Amino acid sequence: MHKNFKNIEKVVFGRGSFSMMESILAEKRNENNRFFLFVVDHYFKGKELGKKIPAKPEDIIKFIDVDPYEPTTGQIDSLRDEVMKANGLPAGVVGIGGGSILDIAKAVSLMFTNGGSSTLYQGLNLIKKPGIYHLGVPTISGTGAECSTTAVLTGPTKKLGLKCEWTVFNQVILDPELIATVPEDKWFYTGMDTYIHCIESETGTLNNTFSHAYAEQALKLCRDVYLGDNAGQNPENDDKLMVASLMGGLSLTYSEVGVCHALSYGLSKILGEKHCYANCLAFQHLEDFYGEGLNEFRKMLNKHQISLPQGLSKNWTDEQITAMAEVAYNLPHMWNHAIGPDWREKVTVDSIKELYKRM
Ligand code: NAD
Ligand code: ZN
Repeated sequence: MHKNFKNIEKVVFGRGSFSMMESILAEKRNENNRFFLFVVDHYFKGKELGKKIPAKPEDIIKFIDVDPYEPTTGQIDSLRDEVMKANGLPAGVVGIGGGSILDIAKAVSLMFTNGGSSTLYQGLNLIKKPGIYHLGVPTISGTGAECSTTAVLTGPTKKLGLKCEWTVFNQVILDPELIATVPEDKWFYTGMDTYIHCIESETGTLNNTFSHAYAEQALKLCRDVYLGDNAGQNPENDDKLMVASLMGGLSLTYSEVGVCHALSYGLSKILGEKHCYANCLAFQHLEDFYGEGLNEFRKMLNKHQISLPQGLSKNWTDEQITAMAEVAYNLPHMWNHAIGPDWREKVTVDSIKELYKRM
């Protein structure tokens, strides 16, 4: 079976394109109870961008602190219940922020039309009905959450996305001016998520000409941004990184992520590490899977004087390592891609524990 690729319906790209939001939303304002829910990273509260949000008096703006925890099922359920109780069904949801906010916007848009708790829908194609209109505006680039078919949520038992075609945004506004204020460490780790998406998408059984074309271009852009003559945070590179994030995300949508992401999910679920940073912690030890990519990753670390902690596993209990290995093992689609359909003959919870012990 071939995947049936679902892309974002509409995309605007360019410096200053944030200002188009008002006219884009105007076309949708008559839907449902005629108001919008804006979920915005609390970093923007009181900042220039926060003031430019084209909200009307009837709209609801929620500034959400995404640190230190990733979005949870409980958070999505309460947000939906609170908005429904106050104003009923919105015309749509707008998310302005990083992967965390974009996932909150995607998830809540689905949960407005699908009853019960979001924990019921963690997994592939468990959502029953399309959500309401949702528009995403990334303000930090790398996760590919702006184009992916999943909204990753941490629930009481699993860290797993609401994954289906309806999760994908109806509209995305890519305005590279918005990522200029990202602190350097976050700029690096989040950008490396794109780099790792591409390396993993390229290295595995599901890679194909379609996913390769996106990954090749995204890798070229990442190399310019992190290793080129003009490497670093500047307007030209902000444009490039924003497009790389999108293309890396599209590449893995038509291929898959691999060993690094499986390990990263364990680190996030059990130790609460943030996705992009957790990927970097894991990736540095995967030379036997991603050797060439890892050499280049090390060059990027050096160039930007980023040092990752070593010897972390010495402070982990065997219970924690086992729990992380179990989370990772239970992501069969990633192992299937990285190792092949017979991966269960080659990978066990114990062999995954050994990978964690390298960290
Ligand atoms: P994030 O949304 O967690 O934000 C990271 C930090 O950057 C926060 O402190 C935030 O306040 C800050 N920030 C964001 N924009 C800023 C700006 N313009 N200036 C200054 N600070 C800014 O970041 P992320 O790394 O993009 O997202 C991680 C989340 O994305 C995780 O929850 C992860 O599970 C999820 N994720 C989702 C997908 C997907 O396909 N849906 C893929 C990968 C990761
Ligand atoms: Zn990722």
